[in-house]
Amino acid sequence: MFVDTHCHLHDEAFKCDMELVQEQMNSCGISVAIDMACNLDCAKIGKALSEKYPSNYFGVGFHPSDVDNFIEGDEQKIIEFTSHPKCVAIGEIGLDFYWEGYDKNKQIDLFTRQLDLAIKTNLPVSVHMREATKEVVDILTAYKGKLPATGVLHCYAGSVETAKILLDLGFYISFGGTVTFKNANKILEVAKFVPKDRILTETDCPFLAPHPYRGTRNTPHNIPVIVAKLAELRQTEITALASNIMQNAKTLFYKIK
Ligand SMILES: [Zn+2]
Repeated sequence: MFVDTHCHLHDEAFKCDMELVQEQMNSCGISVAIDMACNLDCAKIGKALSEKYPSNYFGVGFHPSDVDNFIEGDEQKIIEFTSHPKCVAIGEIGLDFYWEGYDKNKQIDLFTRQLDLAIKTNLPVSVHMREATKEVVDILTAYKGKLPATGVLHCYAGSVETAKILLDLGFYISFGGTVTFKNANKILEVAKFVPKDRILTETDCPFLAPHPYRGTRNTPHNIPVIVAKLAELRQTEITALASNIMQNAKTLFYKIK
C-alpha cells in the first residue's frame, strides 16, 4: 500500500537488524522500497537486497558527494547494473553545493554524464538538489524532451515557482520527513500544490526521520507518518492518497512489478 521511493537500506546503519527492518516494513504495509545508491558499492548492496526481499528495488548511480570516487569505466558498470530486473532508476544523482570544498564543474560533468546514461538505458532519474537550484533547473531544462522516463526531485525543498518549472519538464516531486518538521512552511506550500499524479513519498533513511522521531534512525516504516501529514495538508483520505502515490511510483519506476 505504501511506497518509499528513495531510501538507503544499503547504509551501515541497517547492517545489524535488516531482518527486523524488513519485518517492520511488511507489517506497516510498505510494499515497495527503492534503495538509491551513492556509488557502485552501494548499488551492489542494493542489488543483493532486491534479490533477497520481494519489496526491495534499487537504483544505480553516483551521488554528487561521491564525485571523487567516480573513475573512467564506471559508466559501463552502471549500464551493466541497469539490466537487472529490479534496477528501476539511475540514482541518486544531482548537485550539492552545500558542503565546502566541492568542485562545481566536476559535479556538473558527472550529473550530465549520468543523465546521458538515463537516456541510453531508458530509466528515470532520482535527483538530489541542494543549494544548486538554478544549476539543476538549467541542466534539466537543457534535457527537456530527451529523458525518456523523466525522473523525480527527491526530498524536495525548493519553492512552488521552481516546482512549477520542474513539473512542466515532466518531473515528479517527492516528499519525506521534512514535511513534518516545525519550520517546514515553504515545503508545506509545495506539498499542497503538487498535482496528485506527480506526488511521491520517501524517507531518505537512515536520515531525516519525521517528527516526532526526528534525530533517530529513520526507516521505511515511517512512510505512513509522512503520508498522514500529506493527506492532512491536501485534505484527502490517507488510503486514497497512498494508492495514488503507489500508482505514480509504478508509472515513473515502470519496472516495479
Ligand atoms: Zn538520498
